[in-house]
Amino acid sequence: MPERTPDLLVIGLGAVGSATLLHAAGQGMAVLGIDRLAPPHIHGSTHGESRITRLAIGEGAEYVPLVRRSHALWRELEAASGRSLYRACGGLVLARRDAASPMHGQTGFFDNTLAVARAHGIAHELLGAPAIAARWPQFGLAGDERGYFEPEAGYLRPEECVAAQLALAQERGARVQTGERLLGWQVDGRGLRVETDRASYRPRGAVLAVGAWLPGLLGAAAPPLRVTRQVLHWFEPESAGDYAEERFPIFIWNWGPAPGEVFYGFPDLGGGVKVATELDAPCDTDRVERSVRAAESAAMHARHVAGRLRGVSARVRRTATCLYTEAPGARFLVDRLQAGGPIIASACSGHGFKHSAALGEALAGWALSGVRPEVLAPFSARGLGVA
Ligand SMILES: Cc1cc2nc3c(=O)[nH]c(=O)nc-3n(C[C@H](O)[C@H](O)[C@H](O)COP(=O)(O)OP(=O)(O)OC[C@H]3O[C@@H](n4cnc5c(N)ncnc54)[C@H](O)[C@@H]3O)c2cc1C
Repeated sequence: MPERTPDLLVIGLGAVGSATLLHAAGQGMAVLGIDRLAPPHIHGSTHGESRITRLAIGEGAEYVPLVRRSHALWRELEAASGRSLYRACGGLVLARRDAASPMHGQTGFFDNTLAVARAHGIAHELLGAPAIAARWPQFGLAGDERGYFEPEAGYLRPEECVAAQLALAQERGARVQTGERLLGWQVDGRGLRVETDRASYRPRGAVLAVGAWLPGLLGAAAPPLRVTRQVLHWFEPESAGDYAEERFPIFIWNWGPAPGEVFYGFPDLGGGVKVATELDAPCDTDRVERSVRAAESAAMHARHVAGRLRGVSARVRRTATCLYTEAPGARFLVDRLQAGGPIIASACSGHGFKHSAALGEALAGWALSGVRPEVLAPFSARGLGVA
């Protein structure tokens, strides 16, 4: 089989790969993207109508430059594509006063969020329970909550973002090949060689953004990444207007101090109020149970929603399963694990989408110039104790 020689090969075209492809395109380089499926699709980590975005990243201040840049890039992408991608409907983080708020590897997610907002000059309001209740009577509060409200927070439409990035990348000259699966790669005396089920490549650079398939591809060399099955539920509100985005924000709510006593949700975008909590059961990416049992939705409603989102019934409008790829501490891994090998981008840990536009821009810059942008330094393998 003849070897093909693109300047850059992007493998996996979900959230991170499609952004990388877009930012690498149009720079006079031969840029090729491949995916085993046809993104946007429902088999990885980037589907289900909406993703939260917020500027004060309670997971760590090192993510703030990524999300800030991403907000600007989503707006540019909206202008270039004519699609609605980012809605700044506002976001509320809720926790009990003087209590732990575990989330995404942090024990004090609420306090971290507030500290990051203050340190980075991010516009916000700090609210007590009476003020929250007066503004959003939809929340059934215990009475000792505090709320962090960020007006620029809101939601992104993940499938639209990926579709827009892929379409624009192709307009700018990138090639996309779907239904092509990476089998493996090696570094030899001539550099990097990549094998797929259709071809052999000798790219000058490669970015591997295969999401939940990464641990399987890395095999024994895999950093400590866990793939878990997550479930999204859309419940029917008695009055859809009460949960319209003009009247209701995205929210993350630590309603109790223990891990698992947290859920998050979105306004009703026309198909019900979408909510989820974070599940911890590891799964096999290719054999994960995709269907959602009625009992799972009933348990979600009884434990988290009932009494907390007023007027949101237990009637299920829709469900979906989706995969997290979690690194310790809910961190990202963006690094080259082997000299001359592909740059690996594992940016999920349940909070990666909001950063994916800027990650793609930085990854494209790194792969084409050979110089790692500063913004990616905090996500090295060494930071995870791998290299
Ligand atoms: C339920 C859920 C809720 C979330 N909520 C939020 C949120 O509110 N806010 C937020 O910011 N983030 C959130 N996230 C995280 C965010 O969605 C992910 O960080 C992001 O989607 C990960 O994108 P990715 O590009 O790494 O993976 P994916 O988008 O899954 O892309 C990987 C791609 O690689 C392809 N691929 C795999 N193997 C191969 C191969 N061998 N050869 C070729 N192609 C291959 C796949 O087909 C796929 O298209 C959530 C995730 C989930 C699952």
